[in-house]
Amino acid sequence: MSMAQQKPLTHIVVLGGGPAGGATALGLRKLGYDVSVIAEPRPFKAVEGISERVLEGLRNAGFNQALAKLPQPSPRLASWNGATNSANTEMLINRSELDRGIGQDLQAAGVNLIQGRVGKVVADSDRFTVEIKDEDAQSVSAGFLVEARGRSAPAAGLARLRGSETVSLLQYWQGEPCQPQSAAESFQDGWAWMAAWSDGTRYLQLTFDVATADLPDKAQLIDHCNAILRTLPRAQPFIANAEPTGIIHARTSTPILCRKAVGDNWIRVGDAAMAVDPLSGNGIFQALSSALQAPAVINTLLQQPERATLAKQFYQQRVDHLFHRFARIGRDFYASEERWWDNPFWATRRNWPDNQPLHQETDPDSLQVVSMPVVSNGLIEEHEVVITNDQPLGIWHLNGIPMAPVVRALQNKEQGISPQRCLETALGMSPESAAGLTRWLYQNRWLKAER
Ligand SMILES: Cc1cc2nc3c(=O)[nH]c(=O)nc-3n(C[C@H](O)[C@H](O)[C@H](O)COP(=O)(O)OP(=O)(O)OC[C@H]3O[C@@H](n4cnc5c(N)ncnc54)[C@H](O)[C@@H]3O)c2cc1C
Repeated sequence: MSMAQQKPLTHIVVLGGGPAGGATALGLRKLGYDVSVIAEPRPFKAVEGISERVLEGLRNAGFNQALAKLPQPSPRLASWNGATNSANTEMLINRSELDRGIGQDLQAAGVNLIQGRVGKVVADSDRFTVEIKDEDAQSVSAGFLVEARGRSAPAAGLARLRGSETVSLLQYWQGEPCQPQSAAESFQDGWAWMAAWSDGTRYLQLTFDVATADLPDKAQLIDHCNAILRTLPRAQPFIANAEPTGIIHARTSTPILCRKAVGDNWIRVGDAAMAVDPLSGNGIFQALSSALQAPAVINTLLQQPERATLAKQFYQQRVDHLFHRFARIGRDFYASEERWWDNPFWATRRNWPDNQPLHQETDPDSLQVVSMPVVSNGLIEEHEVVITNDQPLGIWHLNGIPMAPVVRALQNKEQGISPQRCLETALGMSPESAAGLTRWLYQNRWLKAER
């Protein structure tokens, strides 16, 4: 469809201004949409760890101010199954500051940022009316709704897959200003994540199984957590010369997948679509993954409703795939802690979500060229891609080279001709490019090793 034929662009409302809501709103602005984001500040102080990969994701999403004040990476120590690893680093970020920066980026991009709490959301034929709970009690009306309120997004009657019910109890201690650092450590009934922030605040987070942890009531909870922290060798540097502030905050950390994350005029992104176990330390990364794909899905639903089924299938498949990938990474990591094998915390988590391997070794005979939905020019379109037993969602391009013609050429190759020569003659590739691609095909087992 040419720009001249485009339908008038719908006003879109995004509920929640965290990384997912923010990235979706920025992507929609790039496509020319009129976007309002309704966001209230995070209700508690949180520090979280992000890796270089997450930082890259935030940059790709177009955040600028949000990344202006990030600290340098600090040392991260992990103690698991009795072994300690101090080789890693992570960047400790203050989530409220990140949200503030996201808000500035949204305003700079022309998003209508409304500070306030989302109240009732009413769906009326083809429009949504969102009540905003602030002093002026205004409301916003929009033709498309993006649900990005994270884990606190209402289930809205949608079916959800839940892993073992898990709670993380976050406690603050205060000590002298110090070098930022963090540590993770497993213990009999769960695992701990601890961070020291430069102003001396210590974030001490213990994660438990809700059904079996036998946690005391609220009045005794802090003492219970502190008794555990005092037994953990890796916690000692975080609590030495520091005092508990008496504040504890419970965060649900159950993995949750929304079975239906997209409809004709709404979509759920980030944790509202799928929330992973915080053990992976990848929550922001996965939140961005869905948010970066959402604008093309929304654009297709609004501009080319005849492709709605394709766009929804594309989105749901990716949400399901990513959720299961992170769930299996978590499962394998839980299984690597062998000291409390029969404890319910460890036993339930090392058996969920299934026993499928994280990766299948690619079988060259599994390669097929099929038509599948992909993102192309801000829309979801069907193109020929290559699927393998390990890549069921398909690979369209590799470094700009469409892979379906490559596989077709190799499948029709005459006997006695080398794969490289075949790519040169069938696809007109230069000898250097064909040689590089052939190496990749052997390394990734798309070609059978020659005997
Ligand atoms: C215990 C725990 C530890 C974690 N540690 C890490 C970690 O170390 N590294 C990592 O990468 N990830 C971590 N995560 C995951 C990470 O916090 C989330 O995956 C990520 O923030 C999801 O982004 P989001 O934008 O989907 O949702 P959120 O970041 O939750 O953003 C939702 C936004 O919506 C706003 N909001 C909510 N309700 C309303 C309302 N009614 N009205 C208006 N606004 C509203 C909130 O204030 C918030 O700003 C952790 C999660 C948990 C539970």
